[in-house]
Amino acid sequence: GHNNPPEYLKGLNPEQRQAVETTEGPVLVLAGAGTGKTRVLTTRIAHILATGRAFPSQILAVTFTNKAAREMKQRIGILVGEAIEGMPWLGTFHSIGVKLLRRHAELAGLRSDFTILDTDDVTRLIKQLIQAEGLDDKRWAPRTFAQMVDTWKNKGLAPEEIPEGDARAFANGRGRELYRAYQERLTTLNACDFGDLLLHPIRIFRKHHDVLAEYHRKFKYILVDEYQDTNTAQYMWLRLLAQRPKGGNATTEGREPDRATEPSRGPRGALAPSGAEQRVSENKVNICCVGDDDQSIYGWRGAEVDNILRFEKDFPGATVIRLERNYRSTAHILGAAAHLIAHNEGRLGKTLFTDRPDPEDPRVNVHAAWDSDEEARAVGEAIEAYQRNRHQLNDMAILVRASFQMRSFEDRFIEIGLNYRVIGGPRFYERQEIRDAMAFLRVVANSGDDLAFERIVNVPKRGLGDATIRQIHDTARALGVPMLEASTRLAESDELKPKPRAALREVAANFARWQSLLDSTPHTELAEMILEESGYTDMWKNDRSAEAPGRLENLKELIRSMEEYESLRAFLEHVALVMDAEQNEGLDAVSIMTLHSAKGLEFETVFLPGWEEGLFPHQRALDEGGRSGLEEERRLAYVGVTRAKKNLHIWFVSNRRIHGLWQSTIPSRFLDELPEAHVEVQEGGGSSYGGYGNPYGGGAFASGRGGFSAGRQNPYGASRFDNLGSPSGGRAARGDQGGSFSNSYATPGWQRAQQNRT
Ligand code: ATP
Ligand code: MG
Repeated sequence: GHNNPPEYLKGLNPEQRQAVETTEGPVLVLAGAGTGKTRVLTTRIAHILATGRAFPSQILAVTFTNKAAREMKQRIGILVGEAIEGMPWLGTFHSIGVKLLRRHAELAGLRSDFTILDTDDVTRLIKQLIQAEGLDDKRWAPRTFAQMVDTWKNKGLAPEEIPEGDARAFANGRGRELYRAYQERLTTLNACDFGDLLLHPIRIFRKHHDVLAEYHRKFKYILVDEYQDTNTAQYMWLRLLAQRPKGGNATTEGREPDRATEPSRGPRGALAPSGAEQRVSENKVNICCVGDDDQSIYGWRGAEVDNILRFEKDFPGATVIRLERNYRSTAHILGAAAHLIAHNEGRLGKTLFTDRPDPEDPRVNVHAAWDSDEEARAVGEAIEAYQRNRHQLNDMAILVRASFQMRSFEDRFIEIGLNYRVIGGPRFYERQEIRDAMAFLRVVANSGDDLAFERIVNVPKRGLGDATIRQIHDTARALGVPMLEASTRLAESDELKPKPRAALREVAANFARWQSLLDSTPHTELAEMILEESGYTDMWKNDRSAEAPGRLENLKELIRSMEEYESLRAFLEHVALVMDAEQNEGLDAVSIMTLHSAKGLEFETVFLPGWEEGLFPHQRALDEGGRSGLEEERRLAYVGVTRAKKNLHIWFVSNRRIHGLWQSTIPSRFLDELPEAHVEVQEGGGSSYGGYGNPYGGGAFASGRGGFSAGRQNPYGASRFDNLGSPSGGRAARGDQGGSFSNSYATPGWQRAQQNRT
């Protein structure tokens, strides 16, 4: 015992202190949001270092993001009162994986200077393989296969281990062959993909016991944050490093990897200790994982929340510690979060309390807005109001469900000169699909824009290789004309082979046609036409990657945002200005990010916009995941709510443009799952419309129902949010500007609201 505990232990509650001081043996900290799990991990490392139990290089610590790793390193330094000289093994699974693989590349058939391929490289490589197999890459889309490979790798599966059904599902049953060929090709190229950063080390550990033993000796302590979101491969990797042969009789105990959970295909007894392992076998496994099953939000990417549930089985004798006191949020926020998440089934169930309830604490505010632009305007006003009350912008965050939602906030904040930064991803206009789309538009508006032209001349892929591009360049330079014109001329000459010539002719004809329409066609229509006719939209529609649907949403949002400008040129100018804005690193700025990337973070004031059925919970999650999809959405809502320390503002809008149509939306079911006692509904919420009502009552009620809430029978009949934010007659003018209004999602609740008024 410590009679005089060191400074870094002071202030911890007894359970936290137990989690910090139980350094030996396996420890699982299972606790709700804001209870200090990450703080426990950080302090635990500080404690291990301060008490001389290990050197920094003997601690393996896994965080979910690189940013979290940097912060943890800093805090440890502060806690132990000196800068830490490198914690080389503190990082994400991927960053630690790269490091391991560089050290032992030759055991995976690679050189230590191997390249890591990004998604584009992978897709290109797979396309070559598909073509080399004589398969039609239109029918068997390379991106689909890339996605399948990624899924297999997340599950830790080698080609010979993939399920029969999966292998059959692609390329007439040649999925397995292709996967194998892909791996061989990677080796030849001295390259690996992201999945390999974990899979190669796993194989190396299984095959080379001496290497594994080296790390068993090296890593005296293993720590993992956000354990609920580890996938199977990460889990296998961790277990290999953490599970050591028990002491005692080496031949009878604890040799075998658990076959039920670990598809190990090494020789039986692969983990039987060598002499070296025998020596470490006296050591206990000092692994500490912290997590919250209610915050498992990466199931769609292969995370297995079960990993956390089976910790005690994997590590017998584990100490399980629960933390119940929340240090982050007010009682209102906690009450709202607890009530919301209680709607999920199959939880481990946790209590959360704060002993600082303060009658002054604000309730959770729910606001309605007419549409996303008004939502952005109102959130901007709220932020400025906080600012006037001396709140820092750094203490405020806007957390969105889908990245396309960022657009209206970014536009608005630039307009009013409010500093913001986008975290965990590019800003809206910097996204690949937006840059591509903008490139098409820029060339149409200005045929001399060579940079834009070069970006999309071969997008989607139309067989214009480097050689052709070089020829276009040469011609352009020789004639002193822009690349588009050079292409037009080249397409008419016989300097090119028939295939690129035909492709180039099509490109030239397309741009000529679009340019001829520039003055006569509304620019939003023209933009839609360009994305359709160029094949760009289809390219993403045929893309099976997890990001593709989001990219399509972003493209729709781009078109939508153009409506506010009177011409294509005015719009392009606007975007150029937006792109020029600083990222505000190091400045006081509001953070904008997705809910997924907000995991583990906290802010004084949090805005959660877009709580509408179909957006949140997201329709895709409901369609693809059914009940479990809905529950994962609800966990995401729980993550969002629990990011707030003091002020939480949730917004929903009554109209969104979906598939080019204005549609009235239904407030998210999650709003109804918030307890009234902790919520305050802000009528109007700073918005400029007055009165409720549905001027479109006689509209097309039946059409387009498929989008949002098909099959649900007025589950919100009694919703207290029905009456909020309904459109007023005055704003109907919007309908004249673009698209048409449709009440396709109107519910009887709507109708009742209307009857109440009349
Ligand atoms: P999440 O599940 O969201 O990742 P968490 O369990 O990791 O949350 P932390 O981020 O570690 O929680 O802690 C939440 C907040 O509470 C932080 O601001 C942290 O500094 C503070 N905190 C944690 N423990 C204590 C304590 N014993 N005394 C005072 N503040 C604390
Ligand atoms: Mg945390």
